[in-house]
Amino acid sequence: MEHLFALKYRGMSVMTVFMVLFFNAAESYGWHDRTHLAIAQAAGFERWYSAAAPDVVKSRDVFKDIEEKNHYFNNNAERGVTAEMVLGQAERFNKPEDEEGHLYGAIIGSVRDYKELKGSGKYADYPLVFCAHYVGDLSMPLHNTPYDKFNKERHTVNDGIVECNALNNIGFIQRSIYEINIESEGDLAAEIARIAETARKLGRKIRKENRNMSQAEAYTQIIHSASLFRAVLRYVGRNPC
Ligand SMILES: [Zn+2]
Repeated sequence: MEHLFALKYRGMSVMTVFMVLFFNAAESYGWHDRTHLAIAQAAGFERWYSAAAPDVVKSRDVFKDIEEKNHYFNNNAERGVTAEMVLGQAERFNKPEDEEGHLYGAIIGSVRDYKELKGSGKYADYPLVFCAHYVGDLSMPLHNTPYDKFNKERHTVNDGIVECNALNNIGFIQRSIYEINIESEGDLAAEIARIAETARKLGRKIRKENRNMSQAEAYTQIIHSASLFRAVLRYVGRNPC
């Protein structure tokens, strides 16, 4: 793996390096676009190519307040995340008044939206697009930890750790996906809490060591997201492709 990355970097042109640095400096939206696409594609979501759209929505001033808080939970009290905490956030989905964010509730809320729309016979894929995105943000350490000095300074660079090679490694992510079985909303909440904890702990570690994530750590995180989203697809009755 490390060899593979080294080779890829050596092959990057000066222009590519410049562009990666430029875009990394210009955005701070959670994993960058191609990383979100890679997670959704590896999970087997037909609409994987739309998985970065929720960040596009967020970039519009009129939607920003409503959408932004769905993408993180700052966990200012640094409490261990539990299924109860996840379910407790569901009513805050799409609510702008909440400074701390409610990423976990947004995952639950978008699955509920999908089920409701599907139940009414309407086209229901777009709530799943939002869900694919939020499940991606779930594994990003700096979306699960306080928005402190470290987070502000290092957010953008950590969003982009695997951005330039994630789409070339779909096969690797797919082969690394592990089985998660979800049969109820409670199961989903428990899995969200479990992955939030991996992100929170990694966030604590990189703060302590005052460094960015490694590529290997970033891949470990996005594999959690891809595994969970694949399980969500099955849970809502979709066949991952
Ligand atoms: Zn996001």
